[in-house]
Amino acid sequence: MFDKILIANRGEIALRVIRACREMGIKSVAVHSTADADAMHVRMADEAICIGPAPGTDSYLNVASIIAACEVTGAQAIHPGYGFLSENAKFVQIVEDHDLTFIGPTAEHIRTMGDKITAKDTMKALGVPCVPGSDGGVATLADAKKLGEEMGYPVIIKATAGGGGKGMKVAQTAADMESAFMTARAEGKSNFGNDEVYIEKYLTTPRHIEIQVFGDGKGNAVHLGERDCSLQRRHQKVFEEAPGPCITPEERAAIGKVCADAVAKINYIGAGTIEFLYENGEFYFIEMNTRLQVEHPVTEAIFGVDLVREQIRVAEGLPMSFTQDDLEINGHSIEVRINAERLPNFAPCPGKITHFHAPGGLGVRMDSALYDGYSIPPYYDSLIGKLIVHGRNREEALARLHRALGELIVDGIDTTIPLFHALLEEGDIHSGDYNIHWLEKWLDAKYG
Ligand code: ADP
Repeated sequence: MFDKILIANRGEIALRVIRACREMGIKSVAVHSTADADAMHVRMADEAICIGPAPGTDSYLNVASIIAACEVTGAQAIHPGYGFLSENAKFVQIVEDHDLTFIGPTAEHIRTMGDKITAKDTMKALGVPCVPGSDGGVATLADAKKLGEEMGYPVIIKATAGGGGKGMKVAQTAADMESAFMTARAEGKSNFGNDEVYIEKYLTTPRHIEIQVFGDGKGNAVHLGERDCSLQRRHQKVFEEAPGPCITPEERAAIGKVCADAVAKINYIGAGTIEFLYENGEFYFIEMNTRLQVEHPVTEAIFGVDLVREQIRVAEGLPMSFTQDDLEINGHSIEVRINAERLPNFAPCPGKITHFHAPGGLGVRMDSALYDGYSIPPYYDSLIGKLIVHGRNREEALARLHRALGELIVDGIDTTIPLFHALLEEGDIHSGDYNIHWLEKWLDAKYG
């Protein structure tokens, strides 16, 4: 058993891990940059240690400092949260070389899934359905144009190393190909140091459906159903729900089994998410995330499980605390992402919180590191909180979301809260009738 875990992250996800540690009787170590000395995760952890200056590259991505922090505090394991070092295979290797435990999958799994071409090839071989597209990388513009003609437009050009919505460009027609191909390559190179790209058929009305999987690293794995994350802006999720409003129990069982079997076959350990586009009753794999997702709480709500606790258990070599048969869906859950951003352009809006009040009551969970008087530093992601609601069914969850949003107060800065008030006025949100393009179209119509 671990006595002490270091959390190589900040914000709400650091708090999330600290909470799981405390319930398990494990001491927690927070790391922080100089800009985060007053942050909530620093206050809440059992110990805290400064690992560098404000920019993420000098602190939360500073591997030497993080390893040194483990040595100084005697932490035996590292939980990476999401973002930062959570999907960095080199980091995992270094952690293991220092006889520490990385709470997550192996370096090899992260490397395989981190390269989207390799991930797709691996998944295809494991029997997971994929988006039709190029066979591996596409090296030249001439090849890309030829493929575009063969596949038929529209197509999407994607950087194999891409992530966070970067390195993806759509070519609606042959005339767009040159600029889309060159831009995707350039973004891949500048953001991820890799200009290899591949091409997929661009699906025009899909939903984003992702399957939560969990493995024990010993050939056993389960799935925890799907999340529908179709409401996106610039390929970034803003509103997530589970179960998916359009997925039948039969579809869930079938695709869930394909995913659980696939990760069992590769001895996957810990939490993972297999992302699909879903159109006309078909699932098409797009990528796998080898970490805890921002939106994991909606899955926790409907299955009544603590995914971080499970991650820690399997990292300790213990079995999962549930089998597939134990996992039954109870009700419906929705998460909305509260960002420090100013509408309508979603411009980052850091600053001082003059007043914060979190909603409460039955079926309401607020995961946030805010407090009265806290100054949000300008250096990091703009996510400042997640409001998660749970109801007996979707209608009740939506009513609860409406009620809870009304109680939530974040004064002093602009946030995305008004966006959700406005979305809850929309019939399509209530009927669940939306796809991955719905939000962008709605924003265009509303704000121009
Ligand atoms: P990232 O790693 O940057 O998040 P993904 O491959 O997961 O990239 O894709 C993110 C989003 O981009 C998807 O949820 C979807 O909205 C859109 N997308 C990706 N591939 C396609 C495709 N083939 N057709 C249509 N939309 C796509």
